[in-house]
Amino acid sequence: MSYKSNEIAQWQQEDQVFVWHPFTQMKEWEVETPTIIVKGDGVRLTDITGRTYLDGTSSIWVNIHGHNHPDLNQALINQIQKISHSTLLGLASLPSIALAKRLIQIAPTSEETPHKLTKVFYSDNGSTAVEIALKMAFVFWQYQEKKHRKKKKFIAFTNAYHGDTLGAVGVGGIDLFHQTYDSLLFDTIKAPAPTCYRCPLGLEHPSCALACVDEVEILLKTHHKKLAGLIIEPLIQAAAGMFAAPPGYLKKIRTLCTQYEVLMIADEVAVGFGRTGKMFACEHENVVPDLMALSKGITGGYLPLAATLTTQEIYDAFLGEYDEFKTFFHGHSYTGNALGCAAAIANLDIFEKEKTLEKLQPKIQFAANYIKPWRRWKYVGDIRQVGFVIAIELVADKTNKTPFPLEKRIGTLVCREAQSLGLLLRPLGNVIFLMPPLSTSMKDLEEMLSITGASIKKITSRMKS
Ligand code: PMP
Repeated sequence: MSYKSNEIAQWQQEDQVFVWHPFTQMKEWEVETPTIIVKGDGVRLTDITGRTYLDGTSSIWVNIHGHNHPDLNQALINQIQKISHSTLLGLASLPSIALAKRLIQIAPTSEETPHKLTKVFYSDNGSTAVEIALKMAFVFWQYQEKKHRKKKKFIAFTNAYHGDTLGAVGVGGIDLFHQTYDSLLFDTIKAPAPTCYRCPLGLEHPSCALACVDEVEILLKTHHKKLAGLIIEPLIQAAAGMFAAPPGYLKKIRTLCTQYEVLMIADEVAVGFGRTGKMFACEHENVVPDLMALSKGITGGYLPLAATLTTQEIYDAFLGEYDEFKTFFHGHSYTGNALGCAAAIANLDIFEKEKTLEKLQPKIQFAANYIKPWRRWKYVGDIRQVGFVIAIELVADKTNKTPFPLEKRIGTLVCREAQSLGLLLRPLGNVIFLMPPLSTSMKDLEEMLSITGASIKKITSRMKS
């Protein structure tokens, strides 16, 4: 597949004329040359000019087993020859049944609690999976005895990111993205997220004994009578800059939610499907949430699909006679799409066939060892790694942890340099991160790390000391 230079120029121009890109300053985009991806193979993407890049962000955190995987391709061909889509409003479909069963079989469980996720509600992206969890939690309490019906609010965390639809923005906490919409949003109670690198309490883990949980407890204690739920990104606040919660934090939050009768919503959209080294991040701390939002990696990065998993208790609250109108009035046109579900089943099959999680463990360790010396680099403030999320925060001054001013665009510069060396990254402010497909070979991982390091070195070497 090769394109002539006039064809390439035309595609590039038409992109600039017709497409509005997400999270992109289009004024800049219009004067730059867009990289147009035309092909993917394993962890490599090829652009229209024939250049090949390593996919260092798994195409924004979705790809699991690589691009153009034969099993995923075949599963889609098989399904397409039967049916691509039929509605779940009033009808059922084989792939959606089979996938729901599989998701429930692999959902986090714990011997410490009878609590179980037993039902799957489909949608088509991470934001809707979150919206559905919020709505279910909200309505659940309306169907309980009278004293609980004041439970209408949510606790969300500072720096949280749960998606871009308004409900999800409502529980978001990244001012740059979310503040503009303030007047459109429902009121939430914001709990301070754990940010160990710049601990607001001035403490250090583990001697802090998780003192930051106390602040969440105070909020729960004060407001629990009006709280429907608490929403959390388990283990890592991803879009915030890959902020890792200290070990034990998630578990404590689960215990407190149970104690104060507040539903716990785990947003596993970014971390589900192996990203942290286990199938779901909640498993690291033996946590079973009341509601769990899944998307991104669910189809191995092939198709938009999402699922909100919930307990029997929540599901049962919606049961009633027709004219009680307790029906969950929510559903999207492509809910439970057959192709998406077929891809998701193939994704789970590959996890088993290729022993993806087993093979991931030495790669996680290799990355940890590789980047360890970077801590000594002049502008590397913090390194945060959880499984196959490897993040490096660059700072202007290490002693005071002073961030580079955003307008210096240090992250963007590093990513541009990496691209010129054959690695696609996308920064989160001053945080450079790698989130490679889980299938990345040790050799490709080493190349990704090497390019990342070289790019950081090159860009930061231009900084004034
Ligand atoms: N929750 C989390 C934790 C996310 O990281 C994201 C997306 N980055 C979302 C929800 C929203 O997912 P989507 O972009 O598919 O709507």
